[in-house]
Amino acid sequence: MITSVRWKLVGTYLIMIALTVLLTNWLAYTALKQHYLQERQEAYLVHASVVSTFAANYIDGNNLTMPIEFRTYGENVGARILLLDRQGIVVNDSFNEKWVVGRQLGHNEVQAALTGVTAAGAHALSAEEWVMYVAVPVTWEKEVVGAVMLSTDINDIKEALHEVLKSMAVLSMLGSVLALMVGLWLAAKVTKPVEDLSFAVERVAAGNFNEPVPVRSRDELGQLTKSFNSMAEKLANVDRSRREFIANASHELKSPLSSIKALAESLIYSNEQDVTIYKEYLGDINDEIDRLNRVVHDLLQLAKMEDEVTTLNIEAQSVQKVIDQVIHLLKPKAKAKDITLQVTTADQLLWPVDEDMLAMILLNLVDNGIKYTAPGGQVTVNGNTVGDTLELQVSDSGEGIPAADLPHIFDRFYRVDKARSRDTGGTGLGLSIVQQAVKVLGGTISVESQVGIGTKFTVKLDRQ
Ligand code: ADP
Repeated sequence: MITSVRWKLVGTYLIMIALTVLLTNWLAYTALKQHYLQERQEAYLVHASVVSTFAANYIDGNNLTMPIEFRTYGENVGARILLLDRQGIVVNDSFNEKWVVGRQLGHNEVQAALTGVTAAGAHALSAEEWVMYVAVPVTWEKEVVGAVMLSTDINDIKEALHEVLKSMAVLSMLGSVLALMVGLWLAAKVTKPVEDLSFAVERVAAGNFNEPVPVRSRDELGQLTKSFNSMAEKLANVDRSRREFIANASHELKSPLSSIKALAESLIYSNEQDVTIYKEYLGDINDEIDRLNRVVHDLLQLAKMEDEVTTLNIEAQSVQKVIDQVIHLLKPKAKAKDITLQVTTADQLLWPVDEDMLAMILLNLVDNGIKYTAPGGQVTVNGNTVGDTLELQVSDSGEGIPAADLPHIFDRFYRVDKARSRDTGGTGLGLSIVQQAVKVLGGTISVESQVGIGTKFTVKLDRQ
C-alpha cells in the first residue's frame, strides 16, 4: 500500500511534467515556425512586388521570353518567378521550362492575386519538400492584368525546425529524468514518515509501545507523528496500569487464599482434638473469606462503573435523606469506635442525582473517616449548594494523610499503611470506587489533609 502511494505520487507528478513539457514544446515550436514563415513570406512578398511593378509589359503575349534581369533577380533571391496572365496561365517562367509555360495554375495564392489580393502560403509537397508560394497581382491602369508568382523552397526552415525539435526532445528527456529523480525524492520524503507511522502502528498493535516515531517535520505529518507518539505513550500508561492492576489484584486475592490454605492444612495435619482450637481456626478462615469477598465485591463494583454502559438514574433526591441512610448504616461501626457522626445539611436540599452512586460515594468516604479516626473523634458530613453546584464534604478529626501519599490515595490498592488498612478491613479500592463514581456523575473530588489533625474530602457535582 505504501509503495503504491509513492508510485501514485510519482506517476501524477510525471504526468503533470510530461503534459507541461509537451505543451511548452508545442507552443515554442509553433511560435518559431510561424515566425520563420512570416519572415520569409514578408521578404518574398517584397520581391514579388518588385517584379510585379515591371511585369505588365511581359504578360500580353508579345514578349514570351522573360527578360534576363528578372531571371537574375530570381536567381539572386533563390526563387522561381512565373508571370501569369488574367486567366492564370503561365506566360513566362524564369526556369524557362517549356511544359510549364501555357499551363493554367489553380493555386490559391494565384486565384487570390488575380482578384487583386496579395497572397502567400507554405506547402509541404512531401515530408522532405517544403515550398512557399507568393503571388501578387500585376495591374495596368488600375486593372489586374495578371499575376506574378514566386515559388521558393523553404527546406532550410524545415531543417532548422527539425534541429529545434531534436534539441527540444533531448532537453525534455533530460528534464523528465531530472523531474523523475526529484519526484522520487519528494515522494520518498512524503511517504517516509507515513511508512514510519505505519510500522509504528504495527508495533503498537503488537503491544510494543515504547519506540516513539522520530518527528521529521513541522508540517501536518509532523503533527500527526507527535499525536501518534502521545497516543502510544498514553496506551503504554494504560497498559502498564493494567498490568499493575492485575498483579495487585492477584496479590490481594492470593494472600487471603494462602492464609485459608495454611489454616486449613494446619488443621488437617495436626492431631488437635480440642474443638475450641478448631473453632478459632475456622473463625480465622471465615475472616479471610470475608476479606476475599470484600475485594471481589469492590473489584466488581469498579468494573461495573468502568463499563461504559453504566445507566444512571438521575432523579431529584433529598440529599439529607441519602446522607441519613448512609449514617444509619455506619452508626453501629462509629459507635463501636466511640466516634461521633455529624450531619450539617440544609433540610430541604433537593438535587438531581443517581441515588445509588451518591450513597456509594458517601458510604466509602464516611467509612474511611471512621476507620482512620481514633476513638473519641468525629466525622462530619456537610452538604450545600454553591451556585449550580452541589458540594459535599466529609471531614474527620483523624490521623490525616502524609502529603507524599496524597497524590496516590485514589490509585487502586494504594494504602498509606498496608497493615493498618487490612486490619480495618480495607481493600485499598474504596477511594478508587469513589473517584470513578464521581467521574461517572461528571463531578470532581479533592482532598485536604493534615497529619494528626484530620482529613477533608470535597465532592462537587454540577447540576445535570
Ligand atoms: P482502604 O480500603 O485501605 O481504606 P481506600 O482506597 O478507601 O482504601 O483509601 C486508600 C488509603 O487512603 C487508605 O488505606 C488510607 O491510608 C488513606 N485514607 C483514606 N481515607 C482516609 C482518611 N479519612 N483519613 C486518613 N487516611 C485515609
